Amino acid sequence: MRDDILAPSHVVDIGRVADVDHFDTSGPTLRFGALAKMADVAEDPALRADYPALAESLRLAASQQLRNTATIGGNVLQRTRCPYYRDGTSACNKRAPGSGCSAIDGVNRDHAVLGGSESCAAVYPGDLGVALIAFDAQGELASATGPRTLRFADLHRDVADRPDRETNLQPGEITAVTVPASPTGRRSAYVKVRDRASYAFAVASTAVVLEIEGGVVTAARVGLGGVATRPWRSPVAEAELVGRPLTPESTRAAGQAAFATAVPRRDNAVKTALEPRVVERACLLAHSRGESR
Ligand code: SF4
Repeated sequence: MRDDILAPSHVVDIGRVADVDHFDTSGPTLRFGALAKMADVAEDPALRADYPALAESLRLAASQQLRNTATIGGNVLQRTRCPYYRDGTSACNKRAPGSGCSAIDGVNRDHAVLGGSESCAAVYPGDLGVALIAFDAQGELASATGPRTLRFADLHRDVADRPDRETNLQPGEITAVTVPASPTGRRSAYVKVRDRASYAFAVASTAVVLEIEGGVVTAARVGLGGVATRPWRSPVAEAELVGRPLTPESTRAAGQAAFATAVPRRDNAVKTALEPRVVERACLLAHSRGESR
């Protein structure tokens, strides 16, 4: 709205809607209300100890000042940072469907190498969403037609030919995101590479959750950020990790597998070289964390 891209006829203050500004990390399901503040959730001791990837994804997002006021729901649903979308004048299918995509043949260093189409290659800019997809989160939704739940993996849409439709939400929906409590959450990590260390959106990021028994990876969940059009789960990377000890070789294979189908554009081939290394680093960091309780 500040950039004059959206001009809604009405703006509704939801700041005082009951029961959506709480979060709870103590029960069998972690629940983060849509209006819970990012800073409060990021500093929760239980989350930092038992689900480090979730806490790290929040602490590495934005600046402290922004986290003090930004909300979980707002962060998960934030709009693209594509400069063509935000300049208000360039051809942009996301802002003006059917007008074209200025980024495909334009400056696209920050655009997606996974999930894009000729209609749009804008990167999903969030961090928390990448960690949530690695934790098999759910969206808790409510509207005038009643409550429902939605797998977080199904919340954001593929670009296809409708980049203006980013989610499968109905207007006004999303009251919370939930994560099944798990003792294996401790063996998780979120690693983010960005242009400046103080605060910036990800050039490449990875969230990893590992389950290890007898020295062998029995389950792995890998989320990728900064490289794809939505929070990106990578089953092919996960398959490279499962059934063998976690080693530099297996993590390298996972990183490379994740990008076997990547489509780099003129300026962003750096992401296909960088992100596999971020996958490796996140896997090794998660592996180094304490035994599950
Ligand atoms: Fe618009 Fe997407 Fe193209 Fe950016 S990448 S100009 S958001 S259509």
